[in-house]
Amino acid sequence: MNERDSEAVAAQLVAKGYSLAKTENVADVILLNTCSVRDFAEQKAIGKMQNLAADVRKNRPDVVLGFMGCMAQSRGQELLDKLPDVDLVIGTQKFHHTADYLEEILSGARKKIVDVAAEEKSEATIREHLLNGSAKTSVSAFVSIMQGCNQYCTFCIVPYTRGEERSRTIPDIVAECRELVSRGVKEITLLGQIVTSFGKRDIPNQNGKSAFVQLLDAVHEIEGLERIRFTSPHPKGYGDDLIEAYARLPKLCESAHIPVQSGNDRVLKLMHRGYTREKFLGIIKKLRAAKPEIGITTDIIVGFPGETEQDFEETLALAHEVEFDNAYIFKYSQRRDTPAATMPDQVPQKIREERNQRLLETVNEIGARKYENFIGRQTQILVEGPSKKNAARMSGRTRCNKIVLFDGTARHRGQIMDLKITRAGSFTLYGDPAIVNL
Ligand code: SAH
Repeated sequence: MNERDSEAVAAQLVAKGYSLAKTENVADVILLNTCSVRDFAEQKAIGKMQNLAADVRKNRPDVVLGFMGCMAQSRGQELLDKLPDVDLVIGTQKFHHTADYLEEILSGARKKIVDVAAEEKSEATIREHLLNGSAKTSVSAFVSIMQGCNQYCTFCIVPYTRGEERSRTIPDIVAECRELVSRGVKEITLLGQIVTSFGKRDIPNQNGKSAFVQLLDAVHEIEGLERIRFTSPHPKGYGDDLIEAYARLPKLCESAHIPVQSGNDRVLKLMHRGYTREKFLGIIKKLRAAKPEIGITTDIIVGFPGETEQDFEETLALAHEVEFDNAYIFKYSQRRDTPAATMPDQVPQKIREERNQRLLETVNEIGARKYENFIGRQTQILVEGPSKKNAARMSGRTRCNKIVLFDGTARHRGQIMDLKITRAGSFTLYGDPAIVNL
């Protein structure tokens, strides 16, 4: 989501005549888009800004330095007090004012600006794209469908930094998707903090279909669009209408990132997740019945307050039972003003580390096996562009969201290709198009 927000801000600035600087050493404006989900992310952003201030300010005093995003939203003025070199602090509902604020600072009309207020209709303002600005975005694009979250998981800062759930209209989203497809985009990922709650308050269910599934249907109609993905859903949003959409809509890719957070019912309840282990396992079963090839990934928090060794072992067992294709594991991080931060029985850092390590080993082991299972199989990828690590290789993704590298050239970009998988690396597959074409 931050990548997408940054892209939209950059595109808005480019439209006003700015150009993208190659490096921060030559940039006139440096904005750091920030995440607050864990303390580590905040410390990293603050450290980065301190380094920038020390390096850049010395030689080029006129460079504008700013923070945007979740930490900007939740810390506001405090950031200016702490880091006097910062000129601009832009909250999560104010991205579209960036150009105006820069104008005021660059012209000398104002010296410092902090804007973290709420703004009506801001959910519809993140719509500009920097197509061709990066290889990835021209084939595959993110489209923001909503802002905010009303779930109030007890560990999570997002409802306080991103505000209440506010959804765009279906016609507005479809118009943006159509425009992207007309410019060559083949794959669209619908984005939001809790996409399965899309339109819940404004769009009534129709023939048993939730607003989100109605949106999937509408986007699916777009001619020339090849693939649809979305992130992140909430397990409570996996009703039969959504399961059935996977079976019904050929453009909807067989891949689901469904954050489970814990495998223990008591912890899930303390987290305010709104489902049980049993319910989660039921969803996975139904999804695999609808699409046996589906790739399933998740987020898990270890060391949530009160999590015992036995609770954690239930999470380990769940990872074994589901066999996730991959899982993002987070050590619980206390976030200011969240209910979990002051819950009793905070788990010592050492135990959080140790559980993180054990779960990571399990996830890696299962992932490696799942990736190896692809060797020798034929699979279809959408080619996105050169590999990040080795520009001589091209990179694409399977429908089940696995990265595949192969020896290719720029002419493959944007193509849907059949490859034979020859090798599996760490959460990466290697393929050969020649074998298929023989
Ligand atoms: N709303 C989105 C993004 C949430 S942040 C979603 O549900 O996917 C992404 C992940 O960060 C969460 O799924 C959770 O596993 C993790 N996370 C959130 N708050 C955290 C905290 N306080 N400590 C550790 N991990 C956290």
